[in-house]
Amino acid sequence: MPNTPTLLWLRRDLRLSDHPGWQAALASGGPVIPVFILDPLIEESYGAAPKWRMSLSIGQLAQDLEDAGSRLILRRGDALAELRDLIAETGARTMVWSRLYDSRSIARDTGIKSALKADGVEVESVNASLLFEPWTVASKTGGIYRVYTPFWKAVRDREVADPIAAPADLAPPETWPASDQLEDWALGAAMRRGADVVAGHICLGEAAARQRLYGFIDQAIDRYKSQRDFPALDATSRLSENLTYGEISPRQIWHAGYRSMQDRGHAAEAEHFLKELVWREFAYHLLYHTPEIETGNWRAEWDSFPWREDNDDAERWRRGVTGIEMVDAAMREMYVTGTMHNRTRMLVASFLCKHLMTHWKIGEAWFRGCLIDWDPAANAMGWQWTAGSGPDAAPYFRIYNPDTQADKFDADRRYRNRFIAEGRSTPHADALAYFDAIPQSWGLGPDQPYPAPVIGLPEGRARALNAYENRKTLAEQG
Ligand code: FAD
Repeated sequence: MPNTPTLLWLRRDLRLSDHPGWQAALASGGPVIPVFILDPLIEESYGAAPKWRMSLSIGQLAQDLEDAGSRLILRRGDALAELRDLIAETGARTMVWSRLYDSRSIARDTGIKSALKADGVEVESVNASLLFEPWTVASKTGGIYRVYTPFWKAVRDREVADPIAAPADLAPPETWPASDQLEDWALGAAMRRGADVVAGHICLGEAAARQRLYGFIDQAIDRYKSQRDFPALDATSRLSENLTYGEISPRQIWHAGYRSMQDRGHAAEAEHFLKELVWREFAYHLLYHTPEIETGNWRAEWDSFPWREDNDDAERWRRGVTGIEMVDAAMREMYVTGTMHNRTRMLVASFLCKHLMTHWKIGEAWFRGCLIDWDPAANAMGWQWTAGSGPDAAPYFRIYNPDTQADKFDADRRYRNRFIAEGRSTPHADALAYFDAIPQSWGLGPDQPYPAPVIGLPEGRARALNAYENRKTLAEQG
């Protein structure tokens, strides 16, 4: 029936362009009712910063839809119950969503699909988030990839379909179902003072994300490979923030990068960018095939490692007051901008897990709360990779030395000066903003002396190596 609406359930795909879900929903011929449901799974799994940033993304999409003559319907509660209510209210007989790949979302969605099918509703799921869905990439023996380079070789020459244009016509249904008000959800509540500071650094919505992509392609992709490791430079795309809410699709990025690789005579630089994009695919490959990567050591032999559970040193790490400038600058970058440079993500993760011998789960959880680009697959893989317990991991004995990293990647101290105020006569505005973002209860201020190191670097390194070498004995001793 041409006027029977189709429900489009949006989750991590908050956009209109290059969205196979819109295409599938519109193919049914009737109006499309887009809906976002704040269900218990989102409430539990998203930390403060991603929840806040997601709410901005929802608000921006709602505005974009209004501009296109449509609406975004918001509901809060059990997803199946809300969908059933919407189906009853709208008379929809078909619904579409784009797939998620973490085990809890898969379990939820599988249950919802069979329940709705039993109700007589036609349900279609599509891929709007990945270049290569996990089950489409298999090794020569039919197994999964556990190491990145062969994964890259397996996919790099694959055809990636062209992006789809945004729908041209979004006819409204005869009546719209009721919707919650986004403000009533108060998704930014847990961000407290941080929201005002981070708000100055975000790039919101699909139009801005595309601008960011084009800007990167015009100005930085040609030097990506050579400059991407320097945290003070604006040399990477920063698109992780947009990818994670689906404000841009990986296909849009892939094709822009691919064209650049062919047209611009900087093939190696652009190819390196595509390779990094494929690390995200690899992370999803692992998350799908080895879901335990989110919750436990990916390599079981690490279960016997004597990680420290939460401790005072870890608290200093969280607050950005370890007394190791490169580590503190990075942690403060996260409070001020909501993201952290990849080079320093590896460094602070290594420092926590190795010099401070603290369990990677503690760092993973902190990033989950603080990063506006939090991604379940990339975060879990990044932590386990750095800790040594994960796939393709650097050997444990390769311990990042923050001083050497600083000499190599921040020789002119620009990064550290940008984020550390103590001891500077004219601190950078971002260094001061950190004190506006953190809880007042921490009692920190720019005029206090810079803290003494939480541990000597040689001492921390020796302790970690010793524990690694003796891990079986130490575990037996309890
Ligand atoms: P670019 O260099 O421009 O790369 C383009 C895109 O490729 C990125 O946006 C991202 O989607 C993907 N990508 C690049 N490097 C990686 C990588 N190592 N792993 C997976 N995907 C990658 N990334 C997240 O998106 N969310 C996270 O929560 C996250 N947590 C991390 C935690 C740790 C401990 C580590 C070491 C890395 C983590 N990463 C995470 C990966 C990486 O740091 C970020 O993707 C990157 O810094 C984003 O910056 P960019 O968009 O400028 O990347």
